[in-house]
Parts: sequence; C-alpha cells; structure tokens
Amino acid sequence: MSKKLIPTSYPPGSHVAVQLPLPFGGAYDYRVGEQMTVMEGDFVRVPLGPRIAIGVVWSPATGEVPENKLKDISSLLDCPPLPKVSRQFVDWTANYTLQAKGLVLKMAMSVRDALESPKPITAYIRASELPDLRMTPARSRILDVLKDGPPRTTTELAREAATSPGVVKGLYEAGALNKVSLSPEPEISEPDPERQGVTLSDTQATAAEELVKAVFPGGFSVSLLDGVPGSGKTEVYFEAVAEALRHGGQTVVMLPEIALSAQWLERFRARFGVDPSVWHSDLTVSQRRHTWRAVAEGRAKVVVGARSALFLPYLNLKLIVVDEEHDGAFKQEEGVIYNARDMAVVRARLGQIPITLASATPSLETIINVAGGRYTGYELPVRHAGAQLPDIKAVNMIKSPPPRGQWLSPALTIAIKQTIAAGEQVLLFLNRRGYAPLTLCRTCGHRFQCPRCTAWLVEHRSAGRLQCHHCGFHISPPSECPECKTENSLVACGPGVERLAEEIQALIPNIRMTIAASDNIQSPGAAGELVRRIENHAVDLIIGTQIVAKGYHFPLLTLVGVIDADLGLQGGDPRASERTFQLLYQVAGRAGRGEKPGRVLLQTYMPKHPVMLALLSGDKDQFIEIETKARREAMMPPFGRLVALIVSGPIESNVDYAAQALARSAPSGPNISVLGPAPAPIALLRGLHRRRLLLKATKDTAVQPLIRQWISRSEKYKKVRIQIDVDPMSFF
Ligand code: ADP
Ligand code: ZN
Repeated sequence: MSKKLIPTSYPPGSHVAVQLPLPFGGAYDYRVGEQMTVMEGDFVRVPLGPRIAIGVVWSPATGEVPENKLKDISSLLDCPPLPKVSRQFVDWTANYTLQAKGLVLKMAMSVRDALESPKPITAYIRASELPDLRMTPARSRILDVLKDGPPRTTTELAREAATSPGVVKGLYEAGALNKVSLSPEPEISEPDPERQGVTLSDTQATAAEELVKAVFPGGFSVSLLDGVPGSGKTEVYFEAVAEALRHGGQTVVMLPEIALSAQWLERFRARFGVDPSVWHSDLTVSQRRHTWRAVAEGRAKVVVGARSALFLPYLNLKLIVVDEEHDGAFKQEEGVIYNARDMAVVRARLGQIPITLASATPSLETIINVAGGRYTGYELPVRHAGAQLPDIKAVNMIKSPPPRGQWLSPALTIAIKQTIAAGEQVLLFLNRRGYAPLTLCRTCGHRFQCPRCTAWLVEHRSAGRLQCHHCGFHISPPSECPECKTENSLVACGPGVERLAEEIQALIPNIRMTIAASDNIQSPGAAGELVRRIENHAVDLIIGTQIVAKGYHFPLLTLVGVIDADLGLQGGDPRASERTFQLLYQVAGRAGRGEKPGRVLLQTYMPKHPVMLALLSGDKDQFIEIETKARREAMMPPFGRLVALIVSGPIESNVDYAAQALARSAPSGPNISVLGPAPAPIALLRGLHRRRLLLKATKDTAVQPLIRQWISRSEKYKKVRIQIDVDPMSFF
C-alpha cells in the first residue's frame, strides 16, 4: 500500500486544530486567516488568552469551539514542519503513557528560538583602503587581528583585541571596517561511511551484514546485539550507521548517559572522521537551536543523545540504535513518564525502519521478545581478539569480614596490594556517594533525616555537609546532637565512596587515587578528563559509583572489587535481581579488557543468591531461566502488565482520602487486580506526601482505557496530584 505524500492543506477560512505544547491534553480550534494556507505539521503562532503561543497544525478542527468564538491563526513560522511520523509518534506516546499530549509535543519542539528563522550574523573585515584615522593602541590591535583569518563579530573582536565593543563601532563609523553577513548556521560535516573501520571477525561480520541488510530498503525490524563487554557491538552497529549514511538517511543512537560517553565519541570519530551531533539536557540554547534545525532539515546525519533525542523532528530517519538497552536511565521518571527504549521501538515501527538494541545484559523483556521471534538476536560471544573474560570470585563476608569500622575484606586488601605492586589498576565499585549514608548520635540514637523526604541525610565530608540525595536539602554537621545536646557524639554509619578512599589511603599511603561519582563527574568534559587520566595511568585506583560501570575500556585495569554486591537486592523492586545482575556484570566487565587477564572479587553476605551464583559461574542463561520462571509465576512483566498511580500532595490527609477514593473506584475483573494504597517507600518527597497504587493486569489487557475511566470517575481532592506510570521501572 503506498501512502499519498501530499499533506493535507487548509485554505483561508478553514478550521483546524492546533496542538499547543502545554500541560493539558487537547488541541484548540483556530481559523486559517486570509491569504494564508496551512498544512498539517506547520508551526504557527496563535492567540491564547492575552498572549501569543506557538503550536502545530494537527488535524481538522474538533468543532468544540463555536464559530463565533473562533480566532484566527496569527502567522506561520519560518521553519520546517513537524513531519507526519513525528506527529503520529507524539499521539502514540501520549496515548500509551497517558501523559498530556502537549507535554509530549513539547519534547519534540525544543527551544522557541529554533522555530524562528535564523538571523544572519554581522561580522567585520578591514576596509580595503584605510581612511585617515586617529590611531590608538586599541584601534591598531583590532586592525591587526583582522589582518588575517575570517571576519569577526563585534564580541569576538573586542575579546581578541582586548578592548571594548565601542572601539569596534568607532572604527566602523570611521570607515576602517566593512560589515559582512555570515550564515547563522554552523556547517555540519558529514560522517564519512567509506572510511576504513576495523576488520571485523567472522561472527561480527555476519551480524553486521544482517544489520546492514535491514537498513535498505528498510521496513520495521528489531535486532538485538547481545555480546559481552568488549565483543565489538559498537563496531558492528557502526556498519549499519554507515549504510544509512550511504543512502542519505539519518540515524539516532541513544546512549543511557550521554555525559559519560567520551570513549564512544572517540570511537565514532575514528570510524567516521567527524563528530556526530549530540543531544542532551545540558546543551546551551544556541546549540539546541542549531541541532534542532539541522535535524529538521536533514543536515544532521547522525545524532547521539539521551532519551529526548528520540523526539527530534527527523526529516529522514533510517535507523535507530539503543545502546545499553537494558539501562534504567532510559526510563524518564519525571515530567512525561516514559520508557525511551520502548518508545524507540514504537518510533521505528511508525517510521517503518530498523532498530538495533545492544547490550551485554539485555533486559528480560527483550530476551523474551527474541525467544518469541518478534526480535532477531545476534550473539557476539567472544571478546575481540580473544581477550579473556575476568575470573569472578565471591568473598563471603560472614566468614571473612573486614576489621571493625572498615569495609575491605582481607582477601580484597591483599588483591589490591598485589595489583598495585604489579603496576596495574584497580576499580573499587561502591554505589554510594558521599562519606556515609547515615549519621547518628551515639548517646541518644538520634538519626539525621531530611525534613522534606523520607531519607537519611548523607554525609559529604569533603563538602562539609549533610545532604539529602532526593531534594538537595543540606546542613552543616552540627557539633552537638540536636536532640540530646551532647557534644561530639555524632558518628558516621556505613560506607560511601569518600570513606572508602580514607581506608585505602591508610592502607597504601602514596597511592594515586580518584573518586568517580556524579558529584565530581558532571559533564562530558569531566568524564573525558577522567578517562584520559585512567588511560594514561595517572591513577592506580578508582573508587566509583555506577557511573564507571558502563562501556569503558581500560587495558591496565585488572582488578575490580565490588564492596557491597548485595546493595541493590534490598527493597521491593520486582527487577531487583535482574538489575543487580546487570550492574555487577557490567562492572565486572571493566576488568581485564586488555592483554592481561582480569579478576573480580564480589564482597557479599549472600554468596548463594541466584544473582551471585550466576555471576560466579558466568552462566547468564541459567540466571535468565530462573528469573523468567519467577516473573512468569508472579505474572510480572513481561508476562503481565503493571501501571502505577502515585498520589501526592502537601496535605497528608487529602492525599490519603484521594488514594482511598481511588482504591474504592478501582476497576475490577478476572484479569486485573489493584494493590494499595500503600505509603510509597519514599512516603515524603520534597515536602509532598506520597501514596502508591499498583494495577496488575494480564498481558492482553488494554490498560489505558481502564485507567482513563478510573481516573475520571474518582473524586477529585484539592492540591492532590495523580501521576500515572505505565510499565513502572522504579517503585520509590
Ligand atoms: P562493545 O560495544 O561490545 O563493548 P566495542 O565495539 O566497543 O565493544 O569494542 C571494544 C574494543 O575492541 C574497541 O576498542 C573496538 O574498537 C575494538 N574492536 C572490536 N572489534 C574489533 C575488530 N574486529 N578489530 C579491531 N578492533 C576491534
Ligand atoms: Zn530531602
């Protein structure tokens, strides 16, 4: 079936629905003004109350606004329209996740500036003949700067000549400078698919060939690249990216934490000769503007980004890659709650294009989809060039505990010393920021808690603070207990990365050590710097939280010590085992990635836990089998469906009433059950009280209409918000 490519157009006087990027669901009707024709997808300015808003022409009018109240569209914006598939994607996502369509659209719209046509930039060159001038040192410095090199803007000139913009203006008025117009869009260099990549092994080449075949002529397909860390998944999917480039198509590669992808970017440059376009939340307004337009105009050929890159208005998207597809960071938990990995598959289906998921530890959802034949799986079983998989051992912390007040078992201590003595590197993994997770008074037992959250205050000793990791609340550690007023009675309980560093320092005083946690690694620059220092062997030992678990490749790193392997197994998350397995497997994969074999020591109080047994034996399949069985029996995803409702508000009684009212009007039936309301594990968050309800349904239940009806028939309470989380991944 071939679709008509001519978009629907609306002549003057017709009525259309314009979708606005605002936190309510619907679109508003407007009239197309005189001498204007609009198409679906056009960006337009419309009057909204006293102001002018920007929206997208979405569909024929809904008819909800009476003829005499209908207002005219004010004007059309000079920017590429939102493509049809992007609009369908917004509709689909809003409908599936039960989030306001306006908010989903907002993710596709980027910054307001991007929608205005770019203004040319004024720059200066030297006049070919200089007039008679009163010369000052500042003036001559400016003329010197302009002797060679490109035209410069006023700001650039003032900076380079160390003078003020006024001097530039004076020179121009005196006739010594001429104005020129520069294009406001920086050039984007195209990645070159024909550059020589690495020579793929036979298994790599077979997988790459299949991925390449899927790109052209296209059509929807999902492939999984399943291979141990270092098996060459990135190099393999780069071949599919190259194929998309050959056909002039765009690719989006989604990475869970773009800020930490320095090595990935390096590999991309090595393969394609240039940088890709990047998209994440830390871009400046002008970077956003440029990239958004370049994507919409098809000039940006490869975009690498975090979740939100998926919603960019690609003109000609031919391939999607989701790297580390199992990663929880693909789930957005605030604002529009959605799973970018799942929505990426939907986007590929709507666009009839292939998508590749890559992971060393694919999610159970994806594994089941491969087993059921919906996705095609490719395994890359060996490490590239036969590098050895690390040798993983458990340290039974019941049998051989660390000395009191310390966290390193004798076995790990010895291994660290040996490794450092051999001139190799150590990674100690502890997923706890700061110095200690809890501070208490040893006289009265008082515990420092956040006044706005159900959470202990975490001591950050280097920053001199007790800090809440949920809301940012912090205090300086007091000298006396606020409860019993005893002086010097506060003690730190449990380890954080800073405290572990103290222990190491005492153990090996002259060690070169670094801490890698989100507190000090916040930007791609900082991450790149860290990677360089480790690669250049400027550090011997790294203490890291989960930010070091991913994708890095350090040839000299031969020992990984996991300080508390059991940490992630606590709490009521149905995916706790799966997550812990994935995280520890990834961390373990950092060891021995070069010529030298690596070893991993897991400190655990539960050496017989299925997660530990699977890690020790390297038998991933057996773990998956056990996990699959457990989930199937409990009707948990992917064998059943979950939707969480989080009821929250500042007044506890209202929140309770609202949650109970929801429970009373809960849907019922043979295929569904509703659990709760129960206080959320974080029952108070940023001053808001929280209760949770959980709807469980069979796989074939259409949950969205059920939830919609449920919410609409429940009583409303003042200052109470109900958030809907379809397919919840976290249960805090
Ligand atoms: P993964 O994504 O599975 O962790 P990568 O694709 O990042 O693996 O590969 C790990 C390292 O091995 C990279 O430095 C990569 O360039 C290199 N590599 C992978 N395959 C080959 C190959 N066939 N020839 C040479 N180097 C390779
Ligand atoms: Zn708090």
